[in-house]
Amino acid sequence: MQVPFVDLKLQYRNLQPGIDQAIAAVIADTAFVGGRDNKYVCRFEEAFARWLGVDQFATCANGTDALEIILHAAGIGRGDEVIVPALSWISTSEAVSAIGATPVFADIDPDTFTIDPDKAAAAITPRTKAIVPVHLYGQPADMAAIMALAARHKLFVLEDCAQAHGATYGEEKVGTIGDAGSFSFYPGKNLGAYGDAGGFVAKDTRILERARMIANHGQPKKHDHQIEGRNSRLDGIQAAVLLEKLQHLDSWNEDRRHAAESYRRQLEDLGSCIVLPRIDDKRSHVFHLYVVRSKTRDALMGALKNAGVASAIHYPTPLPLLAAYASRGVTAADIPEASTACDEILSLPMFPELTEEQIQHVCKAVRTAVS
Ligand SMILES: *Cc1c(COP(=O)(O)O)cnc(C)c1O
Repeated sequence: MQVPFVDLKLQYRNLQPGIDQAIAAVIADTAFVGGRDNKYVCRFEEAFARWLGVDQFATCANGTDALEIILHAAGIGRGDEVIVPALSWISTSEAVSAIGATPVFADIDPDTFTIDPDKAAAAITPRTKAIVPVHLYGQPADMAAIMALAARHKLFVLEDCAQAHGATYGEEKVGTIGDAGSFSFYPGKNLGAYGDAGGFVAKDTRILERARMIANHGQPKKHDHQIEGRNSRLDGIQAAVLLEKLQHLDSWNEDRRHAAESYRRQLEDLGSCIVLPRIDDKRSHVFHLYVVRSKTRDALMGALKNAGVASAIHYPTPLPLLAAYASRGVTAADIPEASTACDEILSLPMFPELTEEQIQHVCKAVRTAVS
């Protein structure tokens, strides 16, 4: 048996009539490029806002742009420092540098892989203007501690929700807790388009309006360029695909949780050989990724491959230890938890369509490998 890491072809086959019709409608309408007059983009923005429980959601070209545009719209730039976790996809820190500010890396909490609020507190200087908690793998960061820290130091909180559509902290959906939230709809995310796509929310409507303007050449309406912006629009086809898929997001997240529960039942007796995801009581996890830890990770990954099971590492190197940040002089000893995690983490197959038979096959292969 072969178990893929994700199976977007199967998802498409299940949705094909609706998706094909949605795409054909955009083409027939020649409603290709996003903007405030694109009805597909407007419909998706309204539907996602309703799903999130906010008044307004705005789209842009991708999740990296969403981070960057919100930070820029919040007035953060040259000379400012922004605290980011040491473990994430590079977009989180890249966006900070792109607006001329400096990313400052804080180590992670080893149980949840999200930013450690105490380490974030220790990284604050008089230049710190914002913090970007990442809800990594689908589990929210410790938002109570982060919001308290931000209130004490007057920091702007931007939640990176690229991996956590629908995850909750307490009763609240991620993206609605901080001052702003950014989302990615990259194809493999819990809600994914058929190309690049992203979007953002902000509590302060002036920041949201400014961000909308930045994403579309600084125009609140056509040919009225209030500022210089950029071209970061969601296109009509992506909006139509996302609108079609949004209807399934909650049940897909439920299926992911179900698969995670099945992994837990079948692997928990392996004890210390393999550490399973830990979920904090106040948080709900939407399992964008199912990440385990093993002291013999590379051997485990090889054994899974031989058993026909695809796995991956998210991510092999902590952000500050990447070549891109070599000049910052951060060493593994400065971020011990992220460094150890990067040697031990392994993402097992996780997608809503994963069958019980596939999960059993993966678990059997894991068991054989570690025992
Ligand atoms: C995917 C991702 C992004 C960026 O999204 P793109 O749409 O690919 O630009 C940002 N942050 C995290 C944590 C991500 O996983």
